[in-house]
Amino acid sequence: MNRTTSTTRSVTEQQRELAAQGIKYVFAQFTDIHGAAKGKLIPLAYLADIVAPGAGFSGPSIWGTGLPRNGARSEYYGRADLATLQPMPWMPGYARVALDGYVAGEAFDACPRQVLRKQVARLAQYGWTLNAGLEPEFFLLEKGAKGYDAESGDTLEKPSYDSKSLMRKRDFLDQLSTGLDQCGLGVFQIDHEDATGQFEVNYRYADALKAADNFMLFKMAAHHLAEEQGMLFSMMPKPFADRPGSGLHFHLSLADASGKPLFALGAGEAEQGEHGLGLSPLAYQFMAGLLRHAPALTALCAPTVNSYKRLMCGESLSGTSWAPAFIGYGENNRTVVARVVYQRIEWRLPDSSANPYLALAGVIAAGLDGIENHLAASAPVNQDVYEMTAAQRAELGLQMLPQNLGAAVAALKADTVLADALGTSLVKEFTTLKQAEWLEYCQHVSAWETARYLDRY
Ligand code: GLU
Ligand code: MG
Repeated sequence: MNRTTSTTRSVTEQQRELAAQGIKYVFAQFTDIHGAAKGKLIPLAYLADIVAPGAGFSGPSIWGTGLPRNGARSEYYGRADLATLQPMPWMPGYARVALDGYVAGEAFDACPRQVLRKQVARLAQYGWTLNAGLEPEFFLLEKGAKGYDAESGDTLEKPSYDSKSLMRKRDFLDQLSTGLDQCGLGVFQIDHEDATGQFEVNYRYADALKAADNFMLFKMAAHHLAEEQGMLFSMMPKPFADRPGSGLHFHLSLADASGKPLFALGAGEAEQGEHGLGLSPLAYQFMAGLLRHAPALTALCAPTVNSYKRLMCGESLSGTSWAPAFIGYGENNRTVVARVVYQRIEWRLPDSSANPYLALAGVIAAGLDGIENHLAASAPVNQDVYEMTAAQRAELGLQMLPQNLGAAVAALKADTVLADALGTSLVKEFTTLKQAEWLEYCQHVSAWETARYLDRY
């Protein structure tokens, strides 16, 4: 759906069109701080009400709002962004619209979509758009005797690009891809990933806000279709210790108002530019911002206790985890946090549990810090970092990403540039919740501990 035309069409026109397509309800959807889709079903006749004043929700019932239980500020209003209104073909009769949070008549600064909007607006002041291609990896599991796992035929030691299990899941994948295409996502690639039970679906990039909205739509569609087929769709970052986890890589590039890519050197420009990677000086500044803020961004991009089981440097049965553990960038280098490919930056830090609005907002804030302060990127790392010894890494000055949620939260708390950009109330809510999650995990006595220590001491 074209954003400009849809916003200028009246609510009545949109109601008429949707009714003609058999739509009875609109799912008025917002995204909570943990990245989960939440909302209300609104009968189509009441669409105007959710544009203004908005759909009302009890503020403190939503994770991460920090709103009080009474008074004017206890009500969270989600105002429909009509540019996102469209049918969900996998659920005939139902459409979805994304909401922006408002409290006491003002844009709510702890609403993830508003947080991203603010960073998008900062870019717009320069006439720029951040284009982002989000690459969801996920597990598609079936219930067996030992709980959820890959379907019984999916057992290869190195399962990347396996054709048999991919084909066995074709009904689900086809319904998902057809539905998403009807929503304009433009699916162009589907494959079996490097863990048994793991797949990846790729669809076209979009501007940052739309990319986040699209990712939420992708998750809603996949959850629904998997459940209908008796399967579990999971975006838990690392469900199985001995298999690779699920990343949500961001392919990033800036474009100017005419759509011209700003990370790429033009034809014939100074050979391949600095470091020979074909990137523009602006791209290197953006990269330098990302690398400088990588420890704090880790909390936003890898926001669960489980995320850090993915970010370890260890190997998996299939040979490698393909997840980053070190802060650096390099030419087509999947062993560091930023891979330079096709004159874009592939930011490999995010995992599939990230809230896309917050992670993208953090990325923009970090990149803009690099640009506004003319930061210089260190030299690229064009070696396999997994293979290096600790001494070789130290020689290159390669720093490790935070290795647990507690360390990442501490890095975010200490990063005043990100806190200023994302807003102190959002950062406070986020770090308080995540710190509590980390402490609860630390206090938990696991089966691993009892198995190892109970009988030993
Ligand atoms: N699954 C890997 C990760 O956790 C990425 C594999 C790939 O490069 O596609 O980031
Ligand atoms: Mg992948």
